[in-house]
Amino acid sequence: MMGVRVAEDKCIGCKICIYACPEPNVIKLTDSKKVTIECIKCKSCLLCVSACPKKALTKDEA
Ligand code: SF4
Ligand code: SF4
Repeated sequence: MMGVRVAEDKCIGCKICIYACPEPNVIKLTDSKKVTIECIKCKSCLLCVSACPKKALTKDEA
């Protein structure tokens, strides 16, 4: 299943990816101000990957 991987060391918690995602509640901000992605709900559109200014999101084919 394809999904999106988060590089937590690069994420600055800006939430741009959350607004870019067309699906509700897939990308969430954690208490440590990093995002997590619930891959089970992700439609793999990769809009979040394009939107992230820090290149913290990458396609995950695993
Ligand atoms: S790939 Fe698309 S559906 Fe999945 S988290 Fe990113 S924007 Fe949301
Ligand atoms: S857009 Fe990138 S830097 Fe901003 S919250 Fe999302 S993953 Fe983190």
